[in-house]
Amino acid sequence: MTEQRLYNFSAGPAVLPVSVLKKAQEELLCLPGAGASVMEISHRSKQFEPIINGAETNIRKLLNVPEHYRILFLQGGALLQFGMIPMNLLGSKSADYIITGSWTKKAASEAKIAGKVNTIWDGKDVSYKRKPAASEYKINPDAAYVYICSNETIEGVQYQTFPDTGSVPLVCDSSSDIFCRPADITKFGLLYACAQKNLGPAGVTVVIIRDDLVERSPDTLPSLLHYKKIAEQKSMLNTPPCFAIYMVKLVTEWLLNEMGGLEKVHAFNKEKAALLYETIDNSGGFYKGHADKEFRSIMNVPFRLPSEELDKKFETEAKSAGLTTLAGHRSVGGLRASIYNAMPREGVIALRDFMVDFAKKNG
Ligand SMILES: *Cc1c(COP(=O)(O)O)cnc(C)c1O
Repeated sequence: MTEQRLYNFSAGPAVLPVSVLKKAQEELLCLPGAGASVMEISHRSKQFEPIINGAETNIRKLLNVPEHYRILFLQGGALLQFGMIPMNLLGSKSADYIITGSWTKKAASEAKIAGKVNTIWDGKDVSYKRKPAASEYKINPDAAYVYICSNETIEGVQYQTFPDTGSVPLVCDSSSDIFCRPADITKFGLLYACAQKNLGPAGVTVVIIRDDLVERSPDTLPSLLHYKKIAEQKSMLNTPPCFAIYMVKLVTEWLLNEMGGLEKVHAFNKEKAALLYETIDNSGGFYKGHADKEFRSIMNVPFRLPSEELDKKFETEAKSAGLTTLAGHRSVGGLRASIYNAMPREGVIALRDFMVDFAKKNG
């Protein structure tokens, strides 16, 4: 059994910054001033208050989130948001969904349980290789919201510019690319991310929601599904996932202080992604990417080799070389390198070198 950290290309739960893990380790037995760990103290204590407030302040700083947006820390992962969004925002209306891959497909099918969904574009005819052009869909001006996923984690397809939805609120699942680049939050009515890709451990989901949308929550919903009640109680209707929120605070601190903010994070991510895409493009067809070039994700890089046998061989040999969790999602196969914010440049270089070498030996 290995006791060494390897380069972990998992799509989620995914790699976290070493300095964050070290800080958490340092404070694991005793949070300074608390006499106990963060897992052992009241969520209403004066020691926890600066943690949840600090996480919120950091998120506000990173994305310049204006005052008229609330930041909520919820449980239930992205999947619960697939249901909570329609339950809170639909009212008597329907919502428009842009289906660009596995996660929007799943979100739409969950939303259909809660209400009426119109699919205004579905990329299945283009094998979910790209996002649509504005001319390819028509937004219903009376829709409750338009739903998108900024980065389809499984297909590795990312929006470069977001749809202009006019006065219809844009709702975005940013689970696998939040904080990978700067974003203008005012373009969105609601943007959310489960933590376990780019934010921290599983167990907390960050929802950034505009005040007017918070007001839509119907009184028929149980409290814990009700955005407005959650917002009013500052995500403390009941015990929040304290440890996960603590980790989000450390990760966002790392983004601000060590990485130097999202412009720098973006440059870093583009550089890492380019190392892999160039290798794919220069492999003479040995490696094939999935997404059309202009929609390539800088977070998830799916690729295939000439045969499933070679895919398997690549995965096995990469693992022996200390490059782990490179299998593609079970629904699509192939390989996938997830290179979130916390993946160091050295990890991507090691994978690039392995790819070049493997192609030479097996091409
Ligand atoms: C991982 C992921 C999900 C699912 O997250 P859960 O927290 O497991 O429900 C949803 N959307 C996207 C874009 C994801 O990457």
